Amino acid sequence: MAGLSINSITKRFGETEVLRDVTLDIADAEFVSLVGPSGCGKSTLLRIIAGLEDPTGGEIAIDGEAVTGMRAADRNLSMVFQSYALYPHLTVAENIAVPLRMRSLSAGQRLPVIGPFLPGSKDKRAEITAAVKDAAEMLEIGALLDRKPGQLSGGQRQRVALGRALVRSPAAFLLDEPLSNLDAKLRVQTRAEIAQLHRRLNATFIYVTHDQVEAMTMSDRIAVMMDGEILQCDSPSIIYEDPNDIRVAEFIGSPK
Ligand code: ADP
Ligand code: MG
Repeated sequence: MAGLSINSITKRFGETEVLRDVTLDIADAEFVSLVGPSGCGKSTLLRIIAGLEDPTGGEIAIDGEAVTGMRAADRNLSMVFQSYALYPHLTVAENIAVPLRMRSLSAGQRLPVIGPFLPGSKDKRAEITAAVKDAAEMLEIGALLDRKPGQLSGGQRQRVALGRALVRSPAAFLLDEPLSNLDAKLRVQTRAEIAQLHRRLNATFIYVTHDQVEAMTMSDRIAVMMDGEILQCDSPSIIYEDPNDIRVAEFIGSPK
């Protein structure tokens, strides 16, 4: 597990400055929510941390080691998207196994797009099968391993996406509005399960949401972002009771 340092990150898309000097240190095993209105730069920041996008300036470090320029696959971070991003033609077990299969490939080798699969030795295959089973059981989808994503509910699909994130034992989890496609009841349930996962794994989480209530209930700290800047990053109670900016108070709904 790992601490993350985000150091003076800027990002431009053409003329548009989407991130302006974003600095944030996240401790090992901390749960930090990143909140702010749509378009403020949350996903862009997460993608830069994950290595899916290059910053225009600044540095990202994981456990003190600069990773700027390092490929996403080498950063040992797991990202979970709102859209789940599962492979429709693969089973649940095969979807969860994808990161482990990727890891077992040698440099330059490509993963065959269509399964049946599991390259490498018999031992390696047994190891992957066991890891997939463990992750699936932790998320209570152990009975669904042979199904295809099309045969699952939205909540079950999101668990498969979480399983795929979990299976590689990442240094940190980056979640981008993972619950926003779920209905209200399922959202509350899955929110509790993510919080439980955080406690069990003792892992570092960055959790992007535009839902203040979600952030207030789950986080060690909340970073409030607006127009490409982090206005404040503090515990939920400080953010709520002592916002340092009128825009923070308005967004969180503080009595100020
Ligand atoms: P959020 O996740 O907070 O809703 P985003 O990080 O997705 O915000 O987007 C921040 C801003 O950057 C938006 O104005 C968006 O239109 C812009 N943006 C994001 N990705 C690109 C891109 N690839 N090219 C141009 N503009 C982009
Ligand atoms: Mg977004």
